[in-house]
Amino acid sequence: MQTQGRNMTVRGRLAPSPTGMAHLGNAWAFLLAWLFVRSQNGELVLRMEDLDLERSSPVYMQMLMSDIRWLGLDWDEGPTPERELASWHQSNRFHLYEDALQTLRDKGLAYPCFCSRKDLRMLASAPHLGDAGIVYPGTCRNLTPAEVAERTQKGLPASWRFRGQGRVFAFDDLVMGPQRQSIEESGGDFNMKRADGIFSYQLAVSVDDGLMGITQVIRGRDILPSTVRQLAILDALGMPAPEYGHIPLLLDTDGERLAKRQASLSLEALRTRNVSPWRVTGLLARAAGLIDRKEAVHPGDLVQNFSPDRLTRTDYTLTQADMLWLEGKNNGTEDTGTEDNRRLS
Ligand code: GLU
Repeated sequence: MQTQGRNMTVRGRLAPSPTGMAHLGNAWAFLLAWLFVRSQNGELVLRMEDLDLERSSPVYMQMLMSDIRWLGLDWDEGPTPERELASWHQSNRFHLYEDALQTLRDKGLAYPCFCSRKDLRMLASAPHLGDAGIVYPGTCRNLTPAEVAERTQKGLPASWRFRGQGRVFAFDDLVMGPQRQSIEESGGDFNMKRADGIFSYQLAVSVDDGLMGITQVIRGRDILPSTVRQLAILDALGMPAPEYGHIPLLLDTDGERLAKRQASLSLEALRTRNVSPWRVTGLLARAAGLIDRKEAVHPGDLVQNFSPDRLTRTDYTLTQADMLWLEGKNNGTEDTGTEDNRRLS
């Protein structure tokens, strides 16, 4: 499956969704994706994942780019705060997703689905995972052309699903190790375009990774179950698959995933409170297992010794002591919170 030539330049990406202010969790993902690429002398693309037009905003895009720079990170291709490059925004790439969907339709790998969320909930026999939070049971998979025509004539809205039944993909995750995933286990035939015309994350991200020549995807382990869907789309479109590395999550002091609504942990708020970006990097690097004690550090100083093997495989829960240290309030002392996290791993 993973057939990247060893001499190929590594091409990674930062792919934030500009739907809110970036927080420490985003900084963690940016830092690690950046380190993977820079430690291999690779190239980094910045792509704005603004598929959700209602929640995305150019203001957040600008803030994200400023945040990434503030952290001491950089990218080689994509928009910059000084130069808007619309072709790196998913909202300007809908025609590419439509072309890909057409190709999949022509190959018989995309089919219209007329089920409403309510229909699916009522049919649900297994919990969780699919687009509507449930496993898709394949209701519309084998409709005849006459049945499709009849529903279309009635004006029933259709989404477009990937015909993935029976597909299994094995890959070596750069962080989590060997994986074997089936489309069924990941929620069944998945949505590529919603009935209201919105393209799904799965289609957009696969097409973009393929067309942008991305060879390495580093992202949160919460997206690991999506990888089989993206491998299936890339394979069906005849595009090479990147290598994937799914990193553990950074959790807030309550052990919850960081969310964009936690304004106090936004990078903007930290900056306003005069937190040093090198402390942010030092805290994240310590949490990731890349350095032995919390100390202010520039991302560039982590490149040489970076190795995926050193990276922690378990989520890291921020402690109150971490937060105090960020603000320079308990200088130099290693706190028990970090030790606790280490014991857990
Ligand atoms: N845009 C997604 C996010 O901000 C990342 C998706 C990906 O890396 O595939 O969480």
